[in-house]
Amino acid sequence: MRKISVKLGIILSALFFTFVMVISYTLYSFMVHFYIKQVATELLHRGHSHAIVLANHFDHETMHHVAMMEGPAITMVVILDNQGKVLANSDPILPTQRKYLIPMTGHPASMYEEIPLETDWEHSAFIATRSPILNGNQLLGTVVMFSPTDPIRDVVRFLKVVLLWFGLGMIIVGFILIFYLSSRITKPLIQMKAATQNIAKGNYGSELRTDRNDELGDLAASINSLAKSLQHYEQTRTEFLADVSHELRTPLTYLKGYSEILLQDRITNEEEKKEFLKIIRDESIRVHLLVQDLFELTKMEVASVPFEKNEIDLVSIIEKIAERLRPAYDSDKIELNLENVSDSVFIEGDSKRIEQVFLNLLDNARRYTSSGGKVEIVLEKSETVVVIKVIDTGMGIPKSELPLIWKRLYRVEKSRSRVTGGSGLGLAIVKKIVDLHNGSITVDSIENKGTTFTLHFPIL
Ligand code: ADP
Repeated sequence: MRKISVKLGIILSALFFTFVMVISYTLYSFMVHFYIKQVATELLHRGHSHAIVLANHFDHETMHHVAMMEGPAITMVVILDNQGKVLANSDPILPTQRKYLIPMTGHPASMYEEIPLETDWEHSAFIATRSPILNGNQLLGTVVMFSPTDPIRDVVRFLKVVLLWFGLGMIIVGFILIFYLSSRITKPLIQMKAATQNIAKGNYGSELRTDRNDELGDLAASINSLAKSLQHYEQTRTEFLADVSHELRTPLTYLKGYSEILLQDRITNEEEKKEFLKIIRDESIRVHLLVQDLFELTKMEVASVPFEKNEIDLVSIIEKIAERLRPAYDSDKIELNLENVSDSVFIEGDSKRIEQVFLNLLDNARRYTSSGGKVEIVLEKSETVVVIKVIDTGMGIPKSELPLIWKRLYRVEKSRSRVTGGSGLGLAIVKKIVDLHNGSITVDSIENKGTTFTLHFPIL
């Protein structure tokens, strides 16, 4: 369950463990080295002070005095003459100490220096130093000092134990801290995992906390916004499906009802029969158009459907569509004028789809304008954009409904549309096509005065 935190904890602990080990060992070596040096230097100083005293009074009494002074100390002094004969000693000489009792003869006076003779505290029972007794340039004898190594070993052993406990303590505290921190780091990840699982199940409600100002906070915010978009998507999809079924229900009821009446053979009047068949045909056409428009719209929403990009002449397309619709305009007694639509204007796009845009707009303008009215197409162009306005003197759209007309299946007045025959998909299709062409479309309308649709396209 909490694998990341365990992994993170193990890696960090291993690093920390190595770090503590290296630090402890370095500290230990340094301290031992420093301590031994200290002990040896002290012993040398002691020997040196004896040598100075003896240099001034190299007689039996002084030697005896020096040996006596050293007696109670744990250190030991041995005074030699230049032949190596022991002149005085503070403690009895052990056989193992004999090999160090060598006088410092054979050198010019300036070459005599005080040196540690033995510093191997681990193996030898004592450390030893040697100091010359010098009177001017004359070597009178040698002072050899011994110090037992047992106390040193005790101190080192104590140091080892202290460092071991210190290291252990550090490691334990470190482990606890590391596991606490790594579980703190991975806790939000686990929460996010749970949240995404919830989203996958369709529960979009849960909100993750986003108060951290790091990558985890960003991730939580992204998950929250993903949940919101999914929720919105799901909602619009459900609404849309409900709207489609509603749209289909009315014409299908007509089809079912009228065909059943006809099948029962109760109607003998040929005129009436024809009237019913006409209704059936009109309703089938309506369903057919609705399904066709839905299919068009869905196709455009799937990015993989090929979308042609050719150099197309907007003017010739507008003229073509105007001519196609002119008979319908004439029969409705509505004027259709093209203003300033003369020279070619080239844009990049799909001619069939641009045709669809003007077909829908001009058809709407006709359907929502009563006879005697007027529809105008005005074209203006600059260096980079072409602006086309489709202006009608029709019934207009209430201001509150203006933002809604682009929605799929939205109709301003449902009953009116049944008469005028729209599916409510026309403008949704128009908007989609215009967007795909990097263009824009806006609407202005005054009720009972008229409506103007304004389109912008970038010119090639
Ligand atoms: P429909 O197929 O119902 O015409 P559209 O998507 O083409 O669907 O238009 C949506 C709604 O916008 C229509 O139902 C209509 O009420 C309104 N509308 C569109 N064009 C015009 C216009 N030129 N004049 C008045 N109302 C319009």
